[in-house]
Amino acid sequence: MSGFPHLLEPLDLGFTQLRNRVLMGSMHTGLEEEKGGFEKLAHFYKERALGGVGLIVTGGIAPNFRGRLAPNACQLSFPWQVGKHKIVTRAVHEGGAKICMQILHAGRYGYHPFSLAPSKVKSPITPFTPSAMSLRQIRGTIKDYATSAELAKRAGYDGVEVMGSEGYLINQFICERVNQRSDDYGGSFANRIRLPLEIVRAIRAKVGPEFIIIFRLSMLDLVDKGSSLEEVIELGKALEQAGVTIINTGIGWHEARIPTIATSVPRGAFAWVTERLKKELSVPLVATNRINTPEIAEQILASGQADMVSMARPFLADPEFVNKAAANQSEAINTCIGCNQACLDHTFSLKRATCLVNPRACYETEINFPKTESPKRLAVMGAGPAGMAFAVYAAERGHKVTLFEARDEVGGQFNLARKIPGKEEFNETIRYFKNRLAHFKVDLRLNTPLNASVLRDEPFDELVVASGVVPRELNLPGFDSPKVVSYQQVLRGEVEVGQRVALIGAGGIGFDLAHFLGEQESSTLEPERWYRQWGIDTSYAERGGLAKQAQAHAPARELYLLQRKKSKLGKGLGKTTGWIHRMVLKQHKVTELRGVSYERFDDQGLHILIDDKPQLLPVDTVVICAGQESNRALLPELEECGLPMHLIGGVDVAAELDAKRAIRQGAELAMRI
Ligand code: FAD
Ligand code: NAP
Ligand code: SF4
Repeated sequence: MSGFPHLLEPLDLGFTQLRNRVLMGSMHTGLEEEKGGFEKLAHFYKERALGGVGLIVTGGIAPNFRGRLAPNACQLSFPWQVGKHKIVTRAVHEGGAKICMQILHAGRYGYHPFSLAPSKVKSPITPFTPSAMSLRQIRGTIKDYATSAELAKRAGYDGVEVMGSEGYLINQFICERVNQRSDDYGGSFANRIRLPLEIVRAIRAKVGPEFIIIFRLSMLDLVDKGSSLEEVIELGKALEQAGVTIINTGIGWHEARIPTIATSVPRGAFAWVTERLKKELSVPLVATNRINTPEIAEQILASGQADMVSMARPFLADPEFVNKAAANQSEAINTCIGCNQACLDHTFSLKRATCLVNPRACYETEINFPKTESPKRLAVMGAGPAGMAFAVYAAERGHKVTLFEARDEVGGQFNLARKIPGKEEFNETIRYFKNRLAHFKVDLRLNTPLNASVLRDEPFDELVVASGVVPRELNLPGFDSPKVVSYQQVLRGEVEVGQRVALIGAGGIGFDLAHFLGEQESSTLEPERWYRQWGIDTSYAERGGLAKQAQAHAPARELYLLQRKKSKLGKGLGKTTGWIHRMVLKQHKVTELRGVSYERFDDQGLHILIDDKPQLLPVDTVVICAGQESNRALLPELEECGLPMHLIGGVDVAAELDAKRAIRQGAELAMRI
């Protein structure tokens, strides 16, 4: 008996059945536009279908040229475009799942000069001003949606999802924020929702009754002049009448300044919104956003907040998610940690999406770990992300792996990252790798620093060095004081930190430390506290679900964050998450200083120069977050042992190291060793 009975319960849609309540949410992978990408996409989806997903929704496909998100984005408007979609639908059906194609018209989010919107109102997140749609263009677009859906049916899809949320075209029509029209498609609410209703009716007329139509309804806009709860309910009811089969939840416009999917968002933080609609509507409703474990998914379904759950990134992290849940092996699930580093950040840089914790995602035909015909005895030095990943994948191939770790726990610097408030999910990656190390019977030796004498005592064929990095030290006058400490000492609780603190270095770790030291609480994931912090009103009294005022918490310390560069602080942070880190520092009232030269530390504080002018920061503690250097102290003696040696992760290159590179390098070496 599975511990997740609600998650695994089939859903009867009348004309068709879904095998369980799991919807794999829409994700643009970048394969859609690559040469030969649909074959790779078919493998990607098939693994998820074989892994147990009930219903897959594809990445957004435009119904016409001007609705594309980017100039080269995928579109389904002509019969000759159907063939490549058949490769995908066939593969998914062979895997036992159903698949719907998402139709997405970007509206003013289109990243090209041909974008259209209800009115000529530029979005704050795109450089292009859209043209206001003429009535002819509106009618043409409705027809294009219907044509696209009909072609999707011909391509073998089980249905379509109409993207009506996240601030895309349909959402732009629904809200006065962008819709300033005075014709039949603007003004009153009835006029503003005319477009989505006509689109759904036109699609239903073209595809007949036995075809799934999902509507992604923006249930909480999280922007000024968004919809009120009453309007969302009214639209939901009208959509039911118009013939939708399922209503999926949309949370927040892309331009909203409230995090909706980042790791610092508490798990299942928006299920309450779907629950509000559940009381009013009768078609199945899908809950979304930061649902990343079978436990939270089951809880949402069992408590009646929704009929299905949508998870997208968790299926990049682990295609076998559902099967593992069904086998009561949730400990073996590779959990999405909500970092966005390899998925959304890649998409926004026009790179193929993948996953920090699973480098195989979207590389299913390129990264594999087949059994080796010549097993080797491999010694691995260091159980950080690079060493753990290598050990697991090499052992999966049949090599005999011994993993040496100097400390009493695996995880390397992830043990520090997980202490940052809002980064608790990093625990899950450590748990996953621990589970896999045991599963593949890796010989794990904790509290065992590897050195030349250990290597001489045991017969190994090759050595993999994954000893990571050491924090950079700064040798300046007064920096030998016990009040000048490293970020590692702070996070490990080895030193006292005063009330006035200067942080030297404003990279990812400097920002994280500022957050850590500015917070009163060690965790920020308590939902009510988090809603207050970001100004979300769960009573939904105001339009968009915004509270009258966000209530940031009083900072725990007076903090200064410093860098030598003159550029804006935090420029190198993740594309989709950097703004959140910057906002948190504003909430903590951190003083940001750039163009700084460091002079000395004494009883008065930290002496610096900015534009050659001396300044004194009256701080009692200085925390050095000035990057790292490769941990190579033992390399010369290891080299003398004469074993073939490979370097991965931080010990290979310390600059711009992140866990994405560390894990990927481990996987790539395991593939070829
Ligand atoms: P490490 O994690 O440094 O692991 C090296 C391991 O080798 C350690 O366990 C060490 O004890 C062991 N070792 C060293 N010498 C020996 C020896 N002689 N014998 C045996 N074992 C030895 N990255 C991201 O991508 N995203 C983030 O959001 C992020 N946040 C971070 C937040 C903080 C506060 C910190 C400190 C880091 C963060 N990082 C983040 C960086 C990320 O943790 C590193 O990039 C990653 O851990 C590097 O992996 P690694 O395996 O190369 O090295
Ligand atoms: P980093 O990003 O390289 O930043 C180092 C900082 O130290 C910079 O601000 C640099 O700025 C300063 N610095 C470098 N050398 C210095 C010197 N000699 N004296 C004084 N200041 C110096 O490194 P990090 O912050 O340690 O992060 C390490 C890696 O972890 C990063 O590459 C990052 O990818 C990863 N990480 C990611 C996240 C995330 O949220 N994605 C979070 C944490 C960590 P100046 O040179 O201008 O002074
Ligand atoms: Fe999740 Fe990060 Fe992987 Fe994206 S890259 S799927 S956010 S773990």
